Amino acid sequence: MKIGVLSQFPELYSTRRLVEACESRGHEALVINPINCYMNINSVKPSIHLAGAEVPQLDAVIPRIHTSVTFYGCAVVRQFEMLGVFAANDSISIARSRDKLRALQLLSRKGIGMPITGFANKPHDIPDLINMVGGPPLVIKLLEGTQGIGVVLAETRKAAESVIEAFLGLKANIMVQEFIKEANGSDIRCFVVGDKVVAAMKRQGPDGDFRSNLHLGGHGEKVRITPQERKTAVAAVKAMGLSVAGVDILRSNRGPLVLEVNSAPGIEGIEQATGIQVAEPIVEYIEKMVAARKANHQVIA
Ligand code: ADP
Repeated sequence: MKIGVLSQFPELYSTRRLVEACESRGHEALVINPINCYMNINSVKPSIHLAGAEVPQLDAVIPRIHTSVTFYGCAVVRQFEMLGVFAANDSISIARSRDKLRALQLLSRKGIGMPITGFANKPHDIPDLINMVGGPPLVIKLLEGTQGIGVVLAETRKAAESVIEAFLGLKANIMVQEFIKEANGSDIRCFVVGDKVVAAMKRQGPDGDFRSNLHLGGHGEKVRITPQERKTAVAAVKAMGLSVAGVDILRSNRGPLVLEVNSAPGIEGIEQATGIQVAEPIVEYIEKMVAARKANHQVIA
């Protein structure tokens, strides 16, 4: 097969590992920067061009769309879909999971555990918003934040009110969340491919930080997850419509609580922490799906 890895960063570990996994399984891999693609959208022969030439017909793409370019990146994935190319994560599901409010609403509709979360747009009734999520201590998050930046723990009502007021005053979109103290500054990253958790790591934040993000100095180690955690991770990925995703889970007294479903999960951290290869199962999954699609088309024809 010819597989496109849609990434702006060919030198990144994750991109390199995906290319390596494609090649080691006998496929040709092309790294395509989605941001440099330009598209001809018409009803007769839609196409995608890059650097003056048409992108060759691919069998599949692995989208690794950075959060800063979700809008254009998803349009490029959609164009590949229009050309009949299989996308390991489809454009609609990527967009869905990037909208933090929508993603949490979808998880809640499916009855998947999550921390009690409140959203507000205007600073009209901050005390009630704080009560809604059970009062302090609570976590306030900037919706535009990633990698733990813009995630604040407010231990008192006064602190919570000031932070919420400040964020809303700056017209930032925020969510206010129950603080899961018993998670002890750690979370579980489950790497899901298809309907399986192929690897899981526990991430622990540096001393004194409740955030476990590796980018903030946290460290990861292999962890055995419970059947309930496994089920929750797979259900969360399904709720988004994704096939390849990282699910962040907090271990709480009332069971696993999903924080986020990431459609372009980092490969380096989890492979290094667990010693498990996660790129190869992605390519295996694509092989299975493309073969199934071909078989279906034959039946229809
Ligand atoms: P980001 O998407 O920016 O990484 P997260 O929502 O994942 O933001 O939060 C970053 C980290 O902060 C999480 O990995 C987790 O360790 C911690 N955290 C986030 N929300 C809560 C919460 N409600 N209770 C306890 N810890 C939390």
